[in-house]
Amino acid sequence: MANETTLVVIKPDAIQRGLTGYVLTRLEQQKLHVIGAKATRVSRELAKEHYKHLSHKDFFNDLLDHLTGKIHGTSYVLVFVFWGPEAIERVRQVTGATHPEKADPMSLRGSFGRMTAAGIMENIIHASADRTEAEREIALWFRPEELLSLPIVTGA
Ligand code: GDP
Repeated sequence: MANETTLVVIKPDAIQRGLTGYVLTRLEQQKLHVIGAKATRVSRELAKEHYKHLSHKDFFNDLLDHLTGKIHGTSYVLVFVFWGPEAIERVRQVTGATHPEKADPMSLRGSFGRMTAAGIMENIIHASADRTEAEREIALWFRPEELLSLPIVTGA
């Protein structure tokens, strides 16, 4: 099993509802290691760049309002880089499908996600989709010196 790095953003809806601890517990159970972690404000520019593949969608503006905290009255998100065997797929499994109603009920999005009456998809966390996206997103959210250098010694 190949070791991978992946980006997780605990979104403003999860921050507002006090789900950070639970989300991290579920991710830690995947035997992954945190090699980067921080609380950060999200500028509109950063949100636009992060979700640039969705810029043509009619919900794009709402998505930017969501990630920047405008909708949930939060001024920050929590961002993590996880590292370990098949990290990308493991984190996506725990995360669940994009739409909360289609997500496995045991997943984070299946358990806590919802579409609001205003049409906002509150789905708790962002998790990188594949290796290309993970690399791009980690470089977008973290400076190299903010991450533990690899490989990290395990089982010591
Ligand atoms: P993800 O990788 O599973 O997060 O899925 P995408 O990259 O396709 O979408 C990014 C984010 O856009 C999702 O996590 C949602 O927050 C939002 N989103 C995706 N599809 C929809 C939609 O149909 N409606 C709304 N309102 N938001 C959506």
